[in-house]
Amino acid sequence: MARMRGFGTTIFAEMSALAARTGSINLGQGFPDTDGPPAMLERAVSAIREGANQYPPGPGVPELRQAVSEHRKDHYGLGYDPDGEILVTVGATEAIAATILALCEPGDEVIAFEPYYDSYAASVALAGAVLRPVTLRPDGGRFTFDPAELRAAVGPRTRLILVNSPHNPTGTVFTRAELEEIATLCRERDLLAVTDEVYEHLTFDGVEHIPAATLPGMRERTVMISSAGKTFSVTGWKTGWVCGPAELVRAVQTVKQFLTFTAAAPWQLAAAHALRHELGWVASLRADLESKRDRLTAGLSAAGFEVYRPAGTYFVQTDIRPLGFTDGLALTRELPSLAGVVAIPTQVFYARPERGRHFVRFAFCKKNEVIDEAVTRLTRLTRPGTGDSR
Ligand SMILES: *Cc1c(COP(=O)(O)O)cnc(C)c1O
Repeated sequence: MARMRGFGTTIFAEMSALAARTGSINLGQGFPDTDGPPAMLERAVSAIREGANQYPPGPGVPELRQAVSEHRKDHYGLGYDPDGEILVTVGATEAIAATILALCEPGDEVIAFEPYYDSYAASVALAGAVLRPVTLRPDGGRFTFDPAELRAAVGPRTRLILVNSPHNPTGTVFTRAELEEIATLCRERDLLAVTDEVYEHLTFDGVEHIPAATLPGMRERTVMISSAGKTFSVTGWKTGWVCGPAELVRAVQTVKQFLTFTAAAPWQLAAAHALRHELGWVASLRADLESKRDRLTAGLSAAGFEVYRPAGTYFVQTDIRPLGFTDGLALTRELPSLAGVVAIPTQVFYARPERGRHFVRFAFCKKNEVIDEAVTRLTRLTRPGTGDSR
């Protein structure tokens, strides 16, 4: 139908298929190649053996809603009632879709920072809403927005601002000052914030993630979304959660119940275990990812890319122009034959692809030997037109 025209196969499917077909190293799609905490995996197995195999309650199993509530309180000082203010979803992806469908009338406008996670534009289109992009640009080695541009994007039909921090694909973790710009606008113009915080625990160099809901006047107008996938290295479990004021969460649940009704039971029980007992494991994951970040950024710099050092997430953003390339989509399609590596052209995450034509995203949530081999291969990348192999 018309509103989904233009949303073909996702770039991740295209690039992962390319990696499989060419036997290339896949630094495209962001999934870890090692497992999450063993006791959490065991909890999923025991949940199945113990009979957690029928429909759980629509809002989610009480153990997980309770664990999410405790986690929000302990980490951020945010109180959410497990009965009515927390909803379990099929990953953050369903949470985002259900939230936008629940809160936007056709024609309402949604602000999102481009480049953005690809499901945002599709969810906005499904709702018949209109996406208003605000561009993140490099400034002092990290990507950020111009507050005047954000302000100018708000109009009479603006309903909500989508805030993804730590940000995929740029690796930016919004500072308190940046979040304050967003919060001020939300309060002044009576907007909602929908926050995608799936990388909340994966920040580096001592940078701390700040949830927008902790800023003054924001809890009552924020739908806060996260999930187990990135935090516990179980991207295949698709177990997420929404926290917010009861009225907003009720609206999201009204939509969610007719999308999937409920989320799979065993993963919910295992995620509840993980939130309560595996945050030490997450701290070691974070340290490990930080050193992988350093490994890949050093290698990509040596190979000639301009590298933006991420403060969080699984991803490093690069500029390909120092290597003599100009179009990331053309380069990533060629990269398997040029170097035996797959990456993601960042331009596909823009409403205006020309603004991100020269950026390419690499994932570092991979084994060290995989990163090292990819770097070795990329170092042999030849400058176009020169035949120079460096
Ligand atoms: C991975 C990811 C998601 C999806 O999370 P799921 O829990 O797997 O649905 C959402 N937003 C961002 C920014 C992501 O990187």
